[in-house]
Amino acid sequence: MPRPRLRVDLKKLEYNARELTGRCRRLGIAVVGVTKACCGHPWVAQAMLRGGVAGLGDSRLENLQRMRRAGVRGPFTLLRFPSPRGAAAAVSLAEVSLNSEPQTLLALSKAALSARRVHGVVLMVEMGDLREGLWPSELSAVARFSARLPGIRLLGVGTNLACLGGALPTPEKLERLVSLARGLRRELGLPLPVVSGGNSSSLLLLEQGAMPRGITQLRLGEAILLGRETACGRVLPGLWADAFELEGEVIEVKAGPPESPGSPGGPGRGRRALLALGRQDADPEGLVPLEAGIEVVGMSSDHLVLDVTRLRRPLGVGGRVGFALRYGALLAAMTSPYVAKVFRGR
Ligand SMILES: *Cc1c(COP(=O)(O)O)cnc(C)c1O
Repeated sequence: MPRPRLRVDLKKLEYNARELTGRCRRLGIAVVGVTKACCGHPWVAQAMLRGGVAGLGDSRLENLQRMRRAGVRGPFTLLRFPSPRGAAAAVSLAEVSLNSEPQTLLALSKAALSARRVHGVVLMVEMGDLREGLWPSELSAVARFSARLPGIRLLGVGTNLACLGGALPTPEKLERLVSLARGLRRELGLPLPVVSGGNSSSLLLLEQGAMPRGITQLRLGEAILLGRETACGRVLPGLWADAFELEGEVIEVKAGPPESPGSPGGPGRGRRALLALGRQDADPEGLVPLEAGIEVVGMSSDHLVLDVTRLRRPLGVGGRVGFALRYGALLAAMTSPYVAKVFRGR
């Protein structure tokens, strides 16, 4: 079967995790390794843990369950807010969840009591990205409410930036978060150890030496998996950007359509290759050919068309072409049941 293959180098993931946890530890920051782009794959999770992450985070209960069943030790943070209906599952699968809704907090409290557990809660604050969280003005009331709920341990506050609205992390925003946490500690008399300063986009500040003191946690997915900070999308110096590689198989090679009189020298000249790799396997915007002389022309549900006119090697039917992946393509490839996953370095 001409199945696309996703090669995963677990040693490179472990290396990235070790490098990032080291850089963060020097500033008193713990790293939660985020596994959602790999659907909570247990081997990816284990590689992150070997690399020294303090715990694992995923947005989906199914992924947490998958890791737990495989014996991954965690501790686990549920990154997407639970719903009241999902409270019991959240309590049984995650030690901690990110939250903003009092109604859900109440449901988590009830679920924790009946499971005889204590569930950790981090309250998310909206700082301009407009995706999720409480307005800073609402925080104190919801924190007081959470602190009184039996079965709930209020651990601190967090924010998520550069995801939806594109609000980039700045020292001012994160300082604001630190000072909100400080205010709550005074008000509630609780230690609130967690001040979770965002995702891979916040590494830009770390790089620039502009991370405010008092941020105690980052939740990192893409930086570990693909070696990138996501504020500017740069590969971070010293990290592997090619731990994942997607390979597709060529099912047709031919010269472009005969030149039309209207467009001499225009598109249509040259050599094209058709790959058995489509939108059900990956996302064309996120595929970066690894070899010079290959250009992505377009993608349909089942096919990828490449211009290989300038490729300096013979390429025939049955040949393979490799791609580096951006986040969207990685997510699609890991999620697609049509893509064979090939791991090394377990
Ligand atoms: C996905 C996610 C992250 C990790 O984001 P990356 O950009 O991959 O580092 C962090 N926090 C939350 C709430 C998330 O949903």
